[in-house]
Amino acid sequence: MHITTPLPTMDAPAPNSLAADPQLRIDDALEELKRSRERMNAMLESIGDAFFAVDRDWRVIYANGKAANFVDVELGSTIGKPLLDVVPDLKDTAILERYLQAMESGQPAVFEDYWAPTATWVEARAYPTADGLSVYFHDITEKRLAEEALRKSEQRFRNLFQQAGDSILITDRQLRIVAANGRACAHFGYREDELLGMSAREIDSNFSYGVELYESLLRGQTHLLRIVKKRKDGSTFPAEVRVSRFEENGQGFFQAIIRDLTEREDAERQLQHLATHDTLTGLPNRALLHERLQRMLDDCAPGRSVAVMFLDLDRFKEVNDSFGHEHGDVLLCEVAARLRRVLRPADVVARLGGDEFVVAAESGGGSDAAASIAAKLLEVLTLPVTVGAQDVVVGASIGISMYPRDAATRELLFQTADTAMYRAKAEGRNRYRFFEPEMTVAARARMALELSLRPALAREEFELHYQPRVDLRSMEVVGMEALIRWRHPQQGMVQPQQFIGIAEETGLIVPIGRWVLREACRQTRRLIDEYRRPIRVSVNVSARQLAQPGFAAEVREALADAGLAPVALELELTESALIEDLERTAAMLGELQALGVKLAVDDFGTGYSGLAYLRRLPIDVLKLDRSFVLQDDGRISAFDFVKAFVDMAHALQMSVVAEGVETTEVLDFLRAASCDEAQGYLLGRPLPLAELRKLLGSRPERGSVLVAGIGA
Ligand code: C2E
Ligand code: MG
Ligand code: MG
Repeated sequence: MHITTPLPTMDAPAPNSLAADPQLRIDDALEELKRSRERMNAMLESIGDAFFAVDRDWRVIYANGKAANFVDVELGSTIGKPLLDVVPDLKDTAILERYLQAMESGQPAVFEDYWAPTATWVEARAYPTADGLSVYFHDITEKRLAEEALRKSEQRFRNLFQQAGDSILITDRQLRIVAANGRACAHFGYREDELLGMSAREIDSNFSYGVELYESLLRGQTHLLRIVKKRKDGSTFPAEVRVSRFEENGQGFFQAIIRDLTEREDAERQLQHLATHDTLTGLPNRALLHERLQRMLDDCAPGRSVAVMFLDLDRFKEVNDSFGHEHGDVLLCEVAARLRRVLRPADVVARLGGDEFVVAAESGGGSDAAASIAAKLLEVLTLPVTVGAQDVVVGASIGISMYPRDAATRELLFQTADTAMYRAKAEGRNRYRFFEPEMTVAARARMALELSLRPALAREEFELHYQPRVDLRSMEVVGMEALIRWRHPQQGMVQPQQFIGIAEETGLIVPIGRWVLREACRQTRRLIDEYRRPIRVSVNVSARQLAQPGFAAEVREALADAGLAPVALELELTESALIEDLERTAAMLGELQALGVKLAVDDFGTGYSGLAYLRRLPIDVLKLDRSFVLQDDGRISAFDFVKAFVDMAHALQMSVVAEGVETTEVLDFLRAASCDEAQGYLLGRPLPLAELRKLLGSRPERGSVLVAGIGA
């Protein structure tokens, strides 16, 4: 605070102000003097500072009320006393000297000092006057404390600046670096003195600070920029830079806090890779495939096309089940590597999961290029793969859909390629098929069937038909095979060939099979009770059911609930179901055998046709497939071959049942070959329960049923 009030002087009033009457004039003058003193006092009291007026001998002539803050004696008694007695602190300070100088030079003096006993900082102003000195003391302790605090916080700030984990640079408005913290020096590989004065542009890889950015910064906005930064050695790193502008002493600066993003970007990249790639094979996953394919479709020039291929390995499940998952994984990786090798870098190959792969390739207008790619893929996939110590050939089925010919969108491309792939599988695997519009019709019908299959069990749409089985020596009906039928609400009677496959794929076969088993046991028990003679029932069991750990318990329960003796039940298993996982199958069959049920191999001769695996399994019955006896051209197989086979089965304690007997010629042949039992349209078609009853009831008194017209 500056004191602008003119210093009051101790001069007497001017002579011309005295009036004519001396007494009056003196009174007036005194009165005037008194008033002027009062005005002066009021004025001196109103100023914020302590005020002392001293004469040339340092005696106090005047002190205002604020002065009391600096003296511990009563103010009134200070008048006439030497200032040094009144304000003893003065003796210990340099102020006195300055006062003397001021007094001698006639120039006012201003300075600050600390008065220890009263713990105050004062700013003293001394103004020489005609008869001495006027001294103003201003308490600046608070100001000094605030300055001190500021200094400390500045120090703290400087420490923060130096120790910050991020690099911090401060530049002037021309982007010249004026301050850099230790981290910045270390990170950019410069010494501090090298950095100072350098342009911030020199540590950018290539970044242009546009005018807009400048203007926005000048408006006080903070910006977060992604800039590739350059070290002294020329290496670069990605950085996130927070730039802002600040002003100090009327000068503008830019502050940049630079965070190295290398680690973060690495982690992000890794995450990104994880999210978009299959962890096993490293191929793109579904998400990335969608993205890449979409780009290919978007970029597809007129007259050109994109081929989308759905590829499903033919024998992956077998390998997985018989060699274990680790070997299955090795196989998938090998397949992925082979696909990658065949394809060009621009093509996409992705794994959707399991043994399903998708290839997307840009090709010419026609489908020739796609066909040759597919052929090449099949070629490499039919080369053996070493799994464990063994060479296996997996093969694949490929469905191809062409954009834009077959489908206009990604989803439709997938659907149509998938449909074509199913067709390739249905046609015998290890082949490729292009999509054809007719396939959609078939696929739709299949889908509709699948949809209506789900609620069929709850809606009680299934029923069992029974096909008689005849003993070839006595020609009596000794058993029957339970065959499922689906009374579809719209399509009428649906044959198992049309829906068992779907039921197996969807897993619905498990509850459906359970129902068949329980229903067959229940109905057989009733037939036995009605006709009071032994009847054996054969029930078809799918691989999925056999793979259920609780299957044996389910069979035991079905028998117990129906009150059926285990010997009256035969379970028909297919060769492929048996060899899928020989270890597990052997264990399961052991459990079933322990229950006392009979075990049969269905459709024998259509699949692997080795007898070796049979020795390891407790099989009681071989059901020879129709094709075993009757060849494709309709001729009966060589008698010696069939006879030898039957003898061999007998030697292994297995009985032999022939399926699909339609003619007496075949029947005679089988009897001559010592086949045990037979089943076929000649001997009896699959019949609804009511009709089977008629058959069984035809000669109930003999305790057995002879097949009509065919004598023993
Ligand atoms: P499968 O177990 O081999 O059943 C024999 C099939 O041959 C039956 O067809 C039967 O009608 C047919 N067949 C019988 N005699 C002759 C004949 O003389 N000539 C010809 N050409 N065919 C004859 P279906 O009933 O259509 O069953 C087909 C297949 O469906 C069955 O073959 C079986 O694998 C499966 N299946 C049927 N019912 C069930 C079931 O309840 N569960 C399971 N998992 N599969 C079933
Ligand atoms: Mg069967
Ligand atoms: Mg069969």
